[in-house]
Amino acid sequence: MAILLTGGTGFIGSHTAVELINAKQDVVIADDLSNSKAEIVDKIEQITGKRPAFRQLDVTDKAGLDAMFNEFQIEGVIHFAGFKAVGESVAKPIEYYRNNLDSMLSVLEVMRAHQCRKLIFSSSATVYGANSESPFKETAPTGNCTNPYGWTKYMIEQILFGVAQADPDMSIVLLRYFNPIGAHESGLIGERPNGIPNNLLPYLTQTVIGIRDHLSVFGNDYPTHDGTGVRDFIHVVDLAKGHVAAFDYARKHTGAEVFNLGTGIGYSVLDVIKAFEQANGVKVKYQFCPRRPGDIATCYSDPSKAKELLHWQAEKNLVDMCRDAWRWQQNC
Ligand code: UDP
Repeated sequence: MAILLTGGTGFIGSHTAVELINAKQDVVIADDLSNSKAEIVDKIEQITGKRPAFRQLDVTDKAGLDAMFNEFQIEGVIHFAGFKAVGESVAKPIEYYRNNLDSMLSVLEVMRAHQCRKLIFSSSATVYGANSESPFKETAPTGNCTNPYGWTKYMIEQILFGVAQADPDMSIVLLRYFNPIGAHESGLIGERPNGIPNNLLPYLTQTVIGIRDHLSVFGNDYPTHDGTGVRDFIHVVDLAKGHVAAFDYARKHTGAEVFNLGTGIGYSVLDVIKAFEQANGVKVKYQFCPRRPGDIATCYSDPSKAKELLHWQAEKNLVDMCRDAWRWQQNC
């Protein structure tokens, strides 16, 4: 039986496809290629020696998704597909709510029709909002999100808790990602943002390679060790391995369970700049700018629940993340 990855040619989806195939799992990918390229399937094959089945499909197309469930024996779904640009979600809330909620609901309806009951969902640390203090435990209050993207993650979490309650045979794992960065060490897959990047690492690597003039550091007056924002950066390959562990967990447990996927270590924006310079022997041109609206000072995880129950923990460090991100930027 195969595991269906919606959004499987995206940044986290493609790395997860690699790790699942490395773990001898059959992978089927559905992706509409709105924010990725079909050639990623070739790269996954190049890395693993095995080509996952791929169908170009927008998963809000229920008939198309149904056809995939008829074509393949799907054991469970890892649902990555969705719009993910925070800034864009503020400008286009209707599109974000429509797309992210619709795609989740159509996946759930088609899963139900085919009695497929294992689901892993890409949630985000953003659901913790500004409610409580780092390190965030899974039991910390959620909601109070600062943008529509975050609210779609929050709303889908509520939907999934309801679905698990209504069907006691469902196994649902909600993974709250912290800040995934880096790339596969082969340099063949990585993050490919559309247009001007929102996130720190793609902006930084594009600055160093000369696409952007300088990196704006948003705020140097936060109550942190150097005044810049602190985040829990996690290597995307570690994050991908967390999905392999989560699917394994879904095979053994029913109900809905939430896990943080982070390292538990907070690094500041300046820490990242310094680590990047040292790891790669380059200079990062940056300027301090005012705080970015909606940002919080510090956000890092307590990853102990994933360690205890998923038997998973992040293994790569900040230097690995910086080195792999730079290798990818030079190749892509
Ligand atoms: N950041 C920055 N300059 C940028 C992009 C991000 O200084 O061009 C900072 C941002 O204010 C935050 C951290 O880097 O403190 C991580 O931001 P990112 O957008 O990557 O992820 P977020 O934590 O907002 O999801």
